[in-house]
Amino acid sequence: MQTNTADTSDSSPPAVLQQLTLELYRRTGVEVWLLRLDRLHALISGNKGFKLKYALADAASSGLQRIVSFGGAFSNHIHALAYAGYERGIETIGVIRGEPEYAKNPTLSDAAGWGMRLYFVDRATYRQKSQADFLRQLEDRFGTFYLIPEGGCGPLATRGCSEILDWVPASRREGFDLIGAPVGTGGTLSGLIASKPARSRVLGYPVLKGADFLYRDIRQQLALAGVADPGGWELQLDAHGGGYGRVSSQLAAFIAALDRETGIALDPVYTGKMLLRFNQQVVQGEIRAGSRVLLLHTGGLQGLRGMAKTLYDRRQAFQGALPL
Ligand SMILES: *Cc1c(COP(=O)(O)O)cnc(C)c1O
Repeated sequence: MQTNTADTSDSSPPAVLQQLTLELYRRTGVEVWLLRLDRLHALISGNKGFKLKYALADAASSGLQRIVSFGGAFSNHIHALAYAGYERGIETIGVIRGEPEYAKNPTLSDAAGWGMRLYFVDRATYRQKSQADFLRQLEDRFGTFYLIPEGGCGPLATRGCSEILDWVPASRREGFDLIGAPVGTGGTLSGLIASKPARSRVLGYPVLKGADFLYRDIRQQLALAGVADPGGWELQLDAHGGGYGRVSSQLAAFIAALDRETGIALDPVYTGKMLLRFNQQVVQGEIRAGSRVLLLHTGGLQGLRGMAKTLYDRRQAFQGALPL
C-alpha cells in the first residue's frame, strides 16, 4: 500500500497524474492519463476522502459526537469513515447490510479495529435507510447522531469532490477532452461535473445495471449543492458487466493483464469496469485519435483483500483477446 499523504502543504505532493501507456493507445493515437487518487492517503483511499471532507467538518461543528452511516460488507465508504472517525476522535457507527459473520472480513475488521460499532441489518431493513422511523429507532439505540447517507452522498460530498481536479496541475487542467470516472451513487461525478473545464466532457461509468435513474439523481445532487448543471456530461450505461459486484472472467483477466503490463492495480467493482469499458470504446473507434483523456483511479483497493482466489479462478476461465 502507498504511504503518501494528502497534505497539500507538502512541497512535493505525491505524483498523482500518471500517463497510462498501452500499445492500444499508441496504435489508436489516444492519450490517456490516470489521476491516482488511490495514492493520496494510505488508508482513506481514493474518492472517499473528498466525499467525507465537508461532512466531517459539518459533524464537528454540529457538536454531535457520533456519526452513523450505511454500507455493504466490503464498503470503501464504511472503511474510510471508520478511519476518519478514529483519527478525529469521533464515534462512528456503521449500519451494515448483511449477516454478522461479515464482521470477520478485512474491511469490517479494520473498521471495528478503528472503533467503529457495526450494526448488521437484513436487506429489507437496510432499504429503510433514509426513512424517519428507522432513523428514530437508530437514535433510540445509539443516541443522537450526525447522519451521513449511504456512500457519503449529499451536497457536502459534491462540494468535496469538486476539489478532485485541483490535483491536476493547473497548466494541464484545461487540456482534457474527456474526463472519465466510475460511478456508484454519482456523488463523485457530480463534483467533477461541477468543476470541469468548460471544454471537457465528463463520462461516468456506472457499475450498477439499469442505472439510467442516475441522470436524475446526479442532476438532483447538483441542484442541492447549488450548482447549475453545465451540461457536457453523460453516463456509459453498459459498463456494469452484469451488475454490481459481478466479476466476469474477462474483467478478471483484464485486471491481471493490466497489472502485469503497467504495475497498476485496479479493483473489479469500480475502476476495473471503467477501464475495461473505456478500452473497448477505444478499440471500437468511439474515442477519436488525438483525444486527450483523464481517467480517475478512485481507489477501492482495500476491497481486493480476500478476493485473490476468486479473481484467479475467474481469469483462468478466460480465453480471447483483451483490449490492451
Ligand atoms: C465509492 C466508490 C466509487 C463511486 O463513487 P460514487 O461517488 O458513489 O459514485 C468509485 N470508485 C471507488 C473505488 C469507490 O470506492
